[in-house]
Amino acid sequence: MSSPPTTPAPPPTTPHAVARLTRAAHFAARAHKAQQRKGVDAEPYVNHLLEVAELVAHAERPGDVEVVIAALLHDCVEDVGVTELELVAEFGARVAALVMAVTDDKSLPSDRRKWLQIEHAPHLSRDAKLIKLADKTSNLRALVRTPPTGWRRERLHHYVVWAKAVVDACGPVDPALERLFREAYAVAETAYGRVDGEREDIP
Ligand code: ZN
Repeated sequence: MSSPPTTPAPPPTTPHAVARLTRAAHFAARAHKAQQRKGVDAEPYVNHLLEVAELVAHAERPGDVEVVIAALLHDCVEDVGVTELELVAEFGARVAALVMAVTDDKSLPSDRRKWLQIEHAPHLSRDAKLIKLADKTSNLRALVRTPPTGWRRERLHHYVVWAKAVVDACGPVDPALERLFREAYAVAETAYGRVDGEREDIP
């Protein structure tokens, strides 16, 4: 009688990698301690960072631990003023470069930044695209679960259209993450779908 199939054990994770990962989570929690999500629930911002890191870790072909670390840190330059040099010193050049690749230039107007995300998406590395895809998935989920205070339906709809345009511009990245994005998009599209007479412009 043949023995039942067993799930192969995951490759061992080095204590060093676990220490770096938990240090990044702690660093992110401290850096974003005063920040909350825009949604009516005002969730602690770190919830978003942990969700993005978890999504990246669940890619069909996940990046290594450095990519999950960068996912935890992906908003700390843009939102709370951590510098690239600090990231290099704390987590090394590769993590810093990944974070910078998904960081908007806040000196530009919001519309321009949104457009540049679409323009830059095809040129990102696969690791950066994993973070981008996970970020947009987390944001669309949050948009439905706890919509930003004061956002009218048209603004919500434009965000959904724009998030999909960024993900489409990334091209094929990872089937598992793409499926999770499509699920989040379908729910958001149902919630904030196009209303008659509305144009389909990218915001
Ligand atoms: Zn984010």
